[in-house]
Amino acid sequence: MQTLTKVDDKFSICGQIMPADLAGIAARGFRTVICNRPDGEVVDQPRYLEIESAARVCGMRFAYLPVVAETISDADVTAFSNLLNTLPSPVLAFCRSGKRSSTLYNRGRARQFDGLHQALPMPAVPANDMLNTDVLIVGGGAATIGLAASLLQRQANLKISIVEPSEQHFYQPAWTLVGVGEFDIKKTVRPTVELIPSGVEWIRGTVESFEPDQQRVILTDGRHISYHNLIVAPGLKLNWDGIEGLSATIGKNGVTSNYRFDLAPYTWSLVRELRQGTAIFTQPAMPIKCAGAPQKAMYLSCSYWEKKGVLGKINVEFDNAGGVLFGVSTFVPPLMAYVKRYGANLQFNSTLVAVDGPARKAWFSVKNAAGDVSRVEKSFDFLHVVPPQVPHDFVKRSSLANADGWVEVDQKTLQHPRYPNVFSLGDACSAPNAKTAAAVRKQIVVVAENLLAFRAGTTLPTEYDGYGSCPLTVEIGKIILAEFGYGGKLLPTFPIDPTIARRSAWILKKNMLPAIYWGAMLKGREWLARPAKH
Ligand code: FAD
Repeated sequence: MQTLTKVDDKFSICGQIMPADLAGIAARGFRTVICNRPDGEVVDQPRYLEIESAARVCGMRFAYLPVVAETISDADVTAFSNLLNTLPSPVLAFCRSGKRSSTLYNRGRARQFDGLHQALPMPAVPANDMLNTDVLIVGGGAATIGLAASLLQRQANLKISIVEPSEQHFYQPAWTLVGVGEFDIKKTVRPTVELIPSGVEWIRGTVESFEPDQQRVILTDGRHISYHNLIVAPGLKLNWDGIEGLSATIGKNGVTSNYRFDLAPYTWSLVRELRQGTAIFTQPAMPIKCAGAPQKAMYLSCSYWEKKGVLGKINVEFDNAGGVLFGVSTFVPPLMAYVKRYGANLQFNSTLVAVDGPARKAWFSVKNAAGDVSRVEKSFDFLHVVPPQVPHDFVKRSSLANADGWVEVDQKTLQHPRYPNVFSLGDACSAPNAKTAAAVRKQIVVVAENLLAFRAGTTLPTEYDGYGSCPLTVEIGKIILAEFGYGGKLLPTFPIDPTIARRSAWILKKNMLPAIYWGAMLKGREWLARPAKH
């Protein structure tokens, strides 16, 4: 672990810490950890959410206040001082080397000594209950930036605040293409600050809990935010720790996943290098985001190996925790044709439960037709893992959750059944649609229209039909564009047979959809997103 430098009895600093260090830090008496390092500065850096989760398991408070050394502002110093004044001490702050944390502390102290702090802008209200807003949006991902923009298109004077901890916003649908060298990873990330619509307040913080009866949320740094209307869209939790040994080996030893920004390029390097051996692709229990993504990784890798003439020397296996290849039966026959073409061995009811990377072994819980479960060991040279996906803990334990832990909504109006001033959309909500950005594109319009109608005291005018889309990348250069709604009803945008793999759909996904996402969806331009009316 890094050396901790004690500044005074209440405050210490250090360089980058790892999740495993938190138990030792708590044992040394620290009650709060502050992270001043933005996520993603280097590839092997743990994400702040991993540190936060470990800190909370050890009973400590956590705050994320990322800063860049050259641009530390007076507002950053004020925010840092407020955290020190409101969070329990002793506090440990860290960045890459500890220098930024030290600068924030020293500049705050210098203000006090110089009496300058009186001249600097301070929060107008106490730090613990510092904010209130008309519409509070939790999460700044695909669902919410576009929603904020769409709301402002309809009512420009609405006071909207977004709580989002991450400095970076990701276009996740392209990671499947990154994994086979067909998309530049750098084009899948943009600074959050550039995407928040003008006029919308960005509260950099992490929601810890909801108090819907009091109409407020509590952040992990202790701030309270009151609201009139709440939109809950923090996505879902990728449960890497749900598979024994995975966190220790993912990103090395041939174990990878397209479900992470930093790992999709590693998938590509593994695919490129593999010439023979065993390649296993896994799929966890539903629901997951982009249900087709686990098999998309398989088809694209096989397509690459086929082009290179090595597919015949690679044993390809797809271990699926579920019992069907794809949830909408119309698409199963054309997908099976590709499974056959690539010679892939399908294993249903086979759930990845443990990995030993250095030994290149994986263990699966396999259920047979009689319902008996056994543990099966398999060797691999390449393992593409899709982690189990669950609701965030802070959602699950709140009174907004349904029995499974998702934010409960009416699947048509996306309004909460018990708290009518609350709406939810995206991966976090309980609606039984395919969890995709394509679904979000339609849900945005539904929530925007219904929320404003609710505020005006009129009937909710708009219904969501469950639309979601899964561009099934069955080979490099061709896609089966699966578009469907509730109950598996086919909802194709274009009047052509959706079961045929097409080049035009590849061009749509690779070249057009990213531009539509950044340039239209996140800007409140509702292209082909109009829902059905009552
Ligand atoms: P996200 O975009 O994940 O955003 C959630 C936000 O909430 C994040 O910014 C997070 O930082 C924030 N947050 C989390 N916790 C808190 C907290 N405590 N407080 C405040 N904020 C918080 N979709 C398609 O349409 N087509 C595809 O081909 C496709 N392929 C995919 C392939 C992969 C590999 C992956 C991973 C996803 C794919 N998707 C695809 C799915 C799509 O990316 C998601 O469905 C979509 O991003 C969901 O949007 P969201 O806003 O609900 O969640």
